Amino acid sequence: MKIICVASNYSEHAKELKSEIPAEPVFFMKPDSALLQGNKPFYLPEFSKDLQHEVELVYRINRLGKHIEEKFANRYYNDVALGIDFTARDLQKICKEKGRPWEICKAFDQSAPLSSFIKMEKLQNKDSIKFELYKNGTLVQQGSSADMIFHIDKIIEHVSKYLTLKIGDLIFTGTPPGVGQVAIGDRLTGKLEGETMFDFEVK
Ligand code: ZN
Repeated sequence: MKIICVASNYSEHAKELKSEIPAEPVFFMKPDSALLQGNKPFYLPEFSKDLQHEVELVYRINRLGKHIEEKFANRYYNDVALGIDFTARDLQKICKEKGRPWEICKAFDQSAPLSSFIKMEKLQNKDSIKFELYKNGTLVQQGSSADMIFHIDKIIEHVSKYLTLKIGDLIFTGTPPGVGQVAIGDRLTGKLEGETMFDFEVK
């Protein structure tokens, strides 16, 4: 199982990080050891002084595929979840400046908290899935899949040019604005269409 993450997929977030809006989806990967499920606590790593949350919609691949055309991509997923792409922003800044790969700032253990999944057919509007992140009960991020620069189908087309997608692979689709630092004692609660999807503590 692999975890594919799209960078800069909401223009308002790209602006807050002063990132360029890419012409095609930019992606990176996390290993399966990054997963954190079942509302288990996230342990703040000692190597970062600026560990930030990025709440993201996550799609799960349910068919094997390569070179998938955008118009057929919706046959390759049927479940959506909410996740966090934890990012060591201070290390990411160094990686960007020095042109280094992103593993140390994005792919570390527990960097991908993930909720349980909802079937697509249970959602009222598949093209406008609304989600929110609360920190200690205060709304800090909110987004809608309608605001993604690249729709999930376009992402699948692009990624599958390079990688074979396998059953169980996860695609994190980028974060809306409002990313921010987490600290020990924080509680992070994610909601999708008003329903609580995850609720865990930073330790
Ligand atoms: Zn992200």
